[in-house]
Amino acid sequence: MRPVPTPVRNDESAASPGASALPTPEAANAAVMNQPLYVAAAKIYPRAVHGWFAAWRWALVWATQLVFYGGPWLRWNERQAVLFDIAQRKFYIFGLVFWPQDVIYLTILLVISALSLFLFTAVAGRLWCGYACPQTVYTEIFLWIERRIEGDRNQRIRLDRGDLGAKKFALKAAKHAVWIALALWTGFTFVGYFTPIRPLGGDVLSLEAGPWATFWILFYGFATYGNAGWMREQVCKYMCPYARFQSAMFDRDTLIITYDGARGEPRGGRARGRDKGSLGDCVDCGICVQVCPTGIDIREGLQYECIGCAACIDGCDQVMDKMGYPRGLIRYSTQHALDNKLGSRAMWRRVFRPRILVYSAVLWAIIFAGAYALYARVPLKVDIIRDRAAIAREVEGGLIENVYRVQLMNTQETARRFRLSAEGLPSLTLVGDPVYEVDGASARLVPVKLRVAPAQVKPGKHPITIDVQAVDDAAIAVREKSIFIVR
Ligand code: SF4
Ligand code: SF4
Repeated sequence: MRPVPTPVRNDESAASPGASALPTPEAANAAVMNQPLYVAAAKIYPRAVHGWFAAWRWALVWATQLVFYGGPWLRWNERQAVLFDIAQRKFYIFGLVFWPQDVIYLTILLVISALSLFLFTAVAGRLWCGYACPQTVYTEIFLWIERRIEGDRNQRIRLDRGDLGAKKFALKAAKHAVWIALALWTGFTFVGYFTPIRPLGGDVLSLEAGPWATFWILFYGFATYGNAGWMREQVCKYMCPYARFQSAMFDRDTLIITYDGARGEPRGGRARGRDKGSLGDCVDCGICVQVCPTGIDIREGLQYECIGCAACIDGCDQVMDKMGYPRGLIRYSTQHALDNKLGSRAMWRRVFRPRILVYSAVLWAIIFAGAYALYARVPLKVDIIRDRAAIAREVEGGLIENVYRVQLMNTQETARRFRLSAEGLPSLTLVGDPVYEVDGASARLVPVKLRVAPAQVKPGKHPITIDVQAVDDAAIAVREKSIFIVR
């Protein structure tokens, strides 16, 4: 991977042959102090590209955006199907209602995401960056809008170089208007995952949205507009931490986008259909650089700026087709395969190496365990809180009473009745009606009084259990441990 260039070098390689050429400490300090804090990046005008990988990227753009923009509009049981209600501390995902006590599922999801990232990166490098990362997806959409309004690469370059006239102003205004509208819609959709989107839409239209909803719509919209419209590849190059640590997950058998220098060099232009003589297959047309969204030349080797989008593969394949050469001068390959001229079968055998098999096995084990835990999840949660104000007291008949507060959480959306019982001590009885009804997706705090006859129990702390069971379904049951105190 090409090293990141350092603005001031004072190592040996920077020195000219004579020691006298070394800068004095003062001169070196002055050079550092005179460095600009920000070097303006040259604007990149990626050229449109078509091909197999571009089609895959667009398929993922459609899939991810249909899910994102459509998700909050879906209905389920008279409510929004996907809603992360932070105020009520409940997450609704279709038929499931998650409570703060379900944080284990979030943990499992994060572990699966992290392991998937490790696995896919070890197999084929920056697959996530190239095809599914929101920065890639929104940049692709914003670029598509830019091309529809301003034209492809050469027209955009000409437009930017030209003076600001009525046509340029109109084109730029139209582009930014569409970008801003899309960005605001994106912000609105994002907020719609946290507050019911239909009432939110009404509030926004009547300019009655609350300050937090307004702030987050504008903030997320501004971030989308800035990142996908203006920052683009700079987010990947300078802001995203993934680009920095990805190399730790690569090895010589990771599929990366590579230029086959042995086949392509020496590069050089030639007329179509003419004998290439001593030249390699690269016609030095520069298409691979023009289509690159980060503006790099893949022929210089793997670079940290490369997001693995494969646009250069599609671009070069089109050139190879026109020239009548075989495709794949730029292709997915591995360092090992290139160095040892491995065939594709030998290369793929090495891609699925032991490390990948271990990652895959662990990932599938966690996915199955998580899916089973979700499937077997009991739609009832119980928290028992001992009443500290009345730890143990003597009541009528000389009985010892302990008071508890039991929180019953019904995680299904239909109301349900639950029966409470307790065991663990001789003569342990629950005072009053043991059946309580809890509304759907609601919690109810109920006071529970337990009594024992002191003659049958020694003073001290005694472990007991409190059982809660749905009246209509014995499978919905939870047993919680607690303590009964006798003085
Ligand atoms: S070098 Fe190729 S794969 Fe890498 S970012 Fe540029 S176009 Fe995409
Ligand atoms: S697109 Fe292919 S032929 Fe053209 S410069 Fe790039 S590598 Fe060479």
